[in-house]
Amino acid sequence: MEISVCHSCRAKAFQPISADGEFSLWQCSSCGVRRYQCPRCDGQGWLIRVRVRGGDAEMYVCEECEATFEIALPSRQAFRDFQDWLTSIGKQPAWSSVEEIHEQAA
Ligand SMILES: [Zn+2]
Ligand SMILES: [Zn+2]
Repeated sequence: MEISVCHSCRAKAFQPISADGEFSLWQCSSCGVRRYQCPRCDGQGWLIRVRVRGGDAEMYVCEECEATFEIALPSRQAFRDFQDWLTSIGKQPAWSSVEEIHEQAA
């Protein structure tokens, strides 16, 4: 899939709008959905905001390499492994332990 195609509405309107340190923020000008590019796999993957099912903990997870970042996005050095994170909070280390939160522009 072309990088400019929005994963949500499929409009060819997904483009970078700003950079937050090493994290490049992209937004769809059609539906407003936002995503950060994963700094660890050099733009191959997107960071998905997830919340643990039955809990409050939230993280960004790369859908490609499963690097996991704090919502505050400190730096690429601060990533941890998705499965280690889930294990550390007492959850099964699997995608089924989390649900995706779709981020929209305010
Ligand atoms: Zn869209
Ligand atoms: Zn990645």
